[in-house]
Amino acid sequence: MKKAEYKSPEELKLLTDKNRQETGAFIKKLKKKKPKNLDDEVHSLHHEAFESFSCLDCANCCKTIGPRLTDKDIDRLAKHLKMKPSALLEQYVKTDEVGDFVFNSRPCPFLLPDNYCVVYENRSKACREYPHTNRKRFVQILNLSHKNCETCPVVYEVFESLKKTIP
Ligand code: SF4
Ligand code: SF4
Repeated sequence: MKKAEYKSPEELKLLTDKNRQETGAFIKKLKKKKPKNLDDEVHSLHHEAFESFSCLDCANCCKTIGPRLTDKDIDRLAKHLKMKPSALLEQYVKTDEVGDFVFNSRPCPFLLPDNYCVVYENRSKACREYPHTNRKRFVQILNLSHKNCETCPVVYEVFESLKKTIP
């Protein structure tokens, strides 16, 4: 796998656009064939990428996309910040166009200038699970992951390598 290195969202959008047709056709093939080794390949590429690349050198996701927040996330974050959930909702959260709770600003209000997260140990489930390249049944999130190529340099490299390992 080509070593993952930092790319800005603008750069990733251009690269993803350039490969859009090819990646789209590859995804179509994966959905049809459902290769048995897909999860193993993706997990191995995920670990390989994060062995040499640190999210602290990136934070694209924290800067440009907002995680969906559950009631549990709100309670945990409020406890971490020693606030009442109602105060946290008022200060940091809004409802998006589909009615989900999300942070009211981007970059995320809890992202520090050095890319550390103020609430790291108690960050939301969506924050912990992003970019989803280590989850099971990757075949179910191929379209979402294609979209994530525009934000996450690791997801972009995982797709580029997958095209070679699962021809
Ligand atoms: S998960 Fe991806 S987009 Fe987010 S900080 Fe890490 S490498 Fe960057
Ligand atoms: S809560 Fe932390 S991990 Fe989640 S988006 Fe904000 S800064 Fe990033």
